[in-house]
Amino acid sequence: MDRGRRSTGSGKPEGARTPRPVKGKAGIRLVDRRLRACYGDRLWEPRFDHLLDGLIHTLLSQNTNDANSHLAFRRLKERFPSWEEAAAAPVEHIEEAIRPGGISRVKAERIKTLLEKVRRDFGTYCLAALGEMDAQGAMSYLLGLPGVGRKTASVLLLFQLGHPFFPVDTHIFRLGKRLGFIPPRAGSLEAHEIMDRAVPADIKFRLHLNLIEHGRRICRARNPRCAECCLRDRCPSRVHI
Ligand code: SF4
Repeated sequence: MDRGRRSTGSGKPEGARTPRPVKGKAGIRLVDRRLRACYGDRLWEPRFDHLLDGLIHTLLSQNTNDANSHLAFRRLKERFPSWEEAAAAPVEHIEEAIRPGGISRVKAERIKTLLEKVRRDFGTYCLAALGEMDAQGAMSYLLGLPGVGRKTASVLLLFQLGHPFFPVDTHIFRLGKRLGFIPPRAGSLEAHEIMDRAVPADIKFRLHLNLIEHGRRICRARNPRCAECCLRDRCPSRVHI
């Protein structure tokens, strides 16, 4: 055994200094640079031609994985080529179409109610008017829709309109706490507010995607692969190195 680096039993070598939590814009930019070197740049472009498509797809992505939500959305669009047709259909037909996306009854009811509200508010099944609102106005409107919380609204506004919100999914929530830019006791809403303020607008899109990639590949919920992590020298939660 290396006498200067005896194990403490905690996974950290004795005498190794625990890094301080990553704080501030400079710390977040450093994380962004490291992750960019690992996973590359991410060029922003809207994923959907229509905001309402993006919103329904984001709703379908709740509590499931990408493959299932893509399939559910594709089946929904095949069954109902227009949102008018979906709005006029019995909720059971929507439920059947989106079944691969999970909790399909709840999601189908939300989609029906949401479509009705959009029609009432804008006179059409279209959310293009959101593009005319400022970022906070668009956020407020979305938070009034059924099934739309801060994460869903932030995803839509960042990915479709490029507004400077920072969605905090389960990977980012975990990584943020491990690295220290989200306090240990913060809940989801507080985490969103912290990250909205802390992450510079010009890196929000890239950092969001790269943190998720890092959470999936390296900083997993169980058995994080700290020895392979490009952030290990800055991480107070590192283990096994
Ligand atoms: S993998 Fe380990 S070192 Fe890297 S961010 Fe996660 S806990 Fe920290």
